[in-house]
Amino acid sequence: MTTDVQLSSLYQHLILDHYRKPRNKGELQEATADVHMRNPTCGDEIRLQLQVEDGVISDVRFQGEGCSISQAAASMMTALVKGAPVADALGIASRFTAMMHGDPEAAGDRTLKDLRALAGVARFPVRVKCALLGFDALQEAVKQAAGPDTGT
Ligand code: ZN
Repeated sequence: MTTDVQLSSLYQHLILDHYRKPRNKGELQEATADVHMRNPTCGDEIRLQLQVEDGVISDVRFQGEGCSISQAAASMMTALVKGAPVADALGIASRFTAMMHGDPEAAGDRTLKDLRALAGVARFPVRVKCALLGFDALQEAVKQAAGPDTGT
């Protein structure tokens, strides 16, 4: 398995590690949100489930198929947002999105942890959608989890 994107070998290693051993892969029995997203440009698919309790993402699972970047990014994303307050997860989503759009300050943000391995993907516009797929699903899932109960 190789990617067609040239990244440093350390980053390549991290991406392949998440691709081969995805974190939080599987299915939740009782999910607060259940989102399915596709990236038709590349053929990537992600199903993301969240369990949200008192504003905290208490559990998260994903399933999917597609290129190594899409699946590794989803795995890295779940590892970071599991146990995090929804607001923090959305903060990570917006910093990661900024990084994928070439913001050098976001690329230096250590809170992005393993996701920083994907910074180089920003140079390959067709692959940016692959990297963002998991976070697109996260943002949609958070909206779904907030649902009709908000403000009651
Ligand atoms: Zn892809």
